[in-house]
Amino acid sequence: MELLQPSSLAEVEGGLLIAGGTEVVPQLRDGLLDPTTLVDVSALVPRGIDGGRIGAGATLAELEVDPQVPDALREACRLAASPQLRNMGTLAGNLLQDTRCWYWRLKFPCRLHGGDRCHAREGEHREHAIFANGFCASAHPSDVAAALVALGATLRTTRRELPVRELYRLPTEDDRRTTTLEPGEVLLEVDVPAPDASVYLKAMDRKRWSFPLVGVAAVRRGGETTVALAGAAPVPWLLDGPLDEATPLPGTAYKVELAGALVARARAAVA
Ligand SMILES: Cc1cc2nc3c(=O)[nH]c(=O)nc-3n(C[C@H](O)[C@H](O)[C@H](O)COP(=O)(O)OP(=O)(O)OC[C@H]3O[C@@H](n4cnc5c(N)ncnc54)[C@H](O)[C@@H]3O)c2cc1C
Ligand code: SF4
Repeated sequence: MELLQPSSLAEVEGGLLIAGGTEVVPQLRDGLLDPTTLVDVSALVPRGIDGGRIGAGATLAELEVDPQVPDALREACRLAASPQLRNMGTLAGNLLQDTRCWYWRLKFPCRLHGGDRCHAREGEHREHAIFANGFCASAHPSDVAAALVALGATLRTTRRELPVRELYRLPTEDDRRTTTLEPGEVLLEVDVPAPDASVYLKAMDRKRWSFPLVGVAAVRRGGETTVALAGAAPVPWLLDGPLDEATPLPGTAYKVELAGALVARARAAVA
């Protein structure tokens, strides 16, 4: 495997990008990734924070302490992973992390790996999805993505500008990808419009260093509140209907109750 350290973004043409490496390195070790070229973009991606404009190379540790960052995003970063991981892990890498579904991580030939079964639907699935889980029942693990979706943030890449929620897509029979990222496309920065009030609440198995069973971001602007969920669907989930539209699996019904309690608390906190 070759490691490239290009001196400008114009030289980035393809290969597997790496920033903090907290997601890429474990996947290389476990054989989930086997690239011929690894492209280190850590020196090229902006990492400054200027009002609502945040470099995609900023680390979660930088975001969690910056008073310019809205509460929902700061709290989502603070509650993610561990201090060591937040010191290395970048915003871009967090948005593009893969599912934590244990069948996928253990290389079961499931639908997300191109196969014809969802092993989680039939097997162990207590951490899985309650929405949009018919084809793949994985639960999106990013607290940060849910916060940015609720905040209505826009993403700028080397190719386009798009709402953060459009970075994601539900996998289908024809296309198993969960993001719309193109080969060689680099995330550069997000633009976060200031809210009147925002909050992020997270239910997890431990108080620290645990992925969201359910994460709830609530953002109020004027009289309107937007809510997005982590850990609830294969992509960060904008909650634009009632929770009783959820389609839980037998082992994830408890998540609907959890989400109900957290959504009520989050709405009250920003009211
Ligand atoms: C044990 C553990 C616990 C965790 N807990 C949580 C949690 O509770 N909540 C949560 O939200 N997250 C959690 N995470 C995820 C963690 O926050 C991410 O691993 C980290 O933010 C990834 O950032 P990175 O810079 O290290 O990414 P990398 O590993 O460098 O890259 C990850 C992905 O992003 C791509 N990439 C990186 N930068 C760019 C760019 N600028 N443009 C395009 N593609 C890019 C890479 O190609 C790769 O696909 C956890 C991770 C671990 C290992
Ligand atoms: S939930 Fe998705 S990633 Fe997990 S086994 Fe099913 S298809 Fe694979």
